[in-house]
Amino acid sequence: MNNNGKPRIGVFICHCGTNIGGKVNVYEVADFASKLDNVAVAKEYRFMCSDPGQELIRQSIQEHNLNRVVVASCSPLMHEPTFRGVTSEGGLNPFYFQMTNIREHVSWVTKDPNKATKKAKALISAAVRRVALHDPLTKKEVPVRPEVLIVGGGIAGIHSALTYANSGKKVYLVEKEASIGGHMSTLDKTFPTLDCSACILTPKMSEVGKHPNIELLTWSEVEEISGYVGNFKARVRQKPRYVDVDACNGCGACWENCPTTITPIEKVIKKGETVIKTVEKEH
Ligand SMILES: Cc1cc2nc3c(=O)[nH]c(=O)nc-3n(C[C@H](O)[C@H](O)[C@H](O)COP(=O)(O)OP(=O)(O)OC[C@H]3O[C@@H](n4cnc5c(N)ncnc54)[C@H](O)[C@@H]3O)c2cc1C
Repeated sequence: MNNNGKPRIGVFICHCGTNIGGKVNVYEVADFASKLDNVAVAKEYRFMCSDPGQELIRQSIQEHNLNRVVVASCSPLMHEPTFRGVTSEGGLNPFYFQMTNIREHVSWVTKDPNKATKKAKALISAAVRRVALHDPLTKKEVPVRPEVLIVGGGIAGIHSALTYANSGKKVYLVEKEASIGGHMSTLDKTFPTLDCSACILTPKMSEVGKHPNIELLTWSEVEEISGYVGNFKARVRQKPRYVDVDACNGCGACWENCPTTITPIEKVIKKGETVIKTVEKEH
């Protein structure tokens, strides 16, 4: 492996048939790239992702004693893994590689060939500067906690919780209100099918409450999330309920004398800013 020392960068510019080559002057770009700092070699090829294109990169790494690789071609979504693999097969750490997109970001979206060529040069210049600063990375596997935390117990959170829980995963469902249900619990019928909201929602709410894989945290809010993917830690604040949760059977008899309840004296129905109706509430 020749990963250390002064960067010796190889720049490989793809024509992508006429996709890039039809707009960007790839020969001019290769000549430009060959003169950039730390660049040992710059080559263009019709299809850099093809077997001969990949072989060209592998051979160049050996022949020119390269320790960094830049490929200017299509979207990294398409071929970053391909070229990382090629860099690795050439004997380098696969992260001594930088891709730059001169197809979607240049030739496909720029009408004027001169402007396209200029932009391709700028992007390659940036990629060359960047790859010189890369450090080698190694992949490792870490244990992942498969539990799921869902914030919000509306229909979306409820359905997600049931889907995850039914697949065998432990779910924590955090709802800031005293009950799950969200907006759907306030609706009579749902558009566009005019199905009865409660008929859809209530069985799911009940299933959540009983599901062995779901820990329901109502009247609660997430205060802090730390950690990283697969190993998050969440701190959840549960607000005081003023009832004995274990003894409560949901009869509602305590509501009448609850010191924390404020009952509005009137109900105002509005359409936009216009008050349509004011109804005295019965006590
Ligand atoms: C008046 C009205 C009529 C509608 N009619 C229809 C209809 O006919 N058909 C249709 O398909 N859709 C309709 N919708 C839209 C439908 O209500 C929503 O698409 C659906 O209910 C949204 O569900 P949800 O779970 O994404 O969000 P919500 O129902 O809004 O649920 C979000 C939940 O998250 C909780 N929450 C929010 N922030 C936090 C937090 N920080 N921590 C913990 N919990 C939190 C909330 O308390 C709530 O329970 C209507 C919406 C409204 C407002």
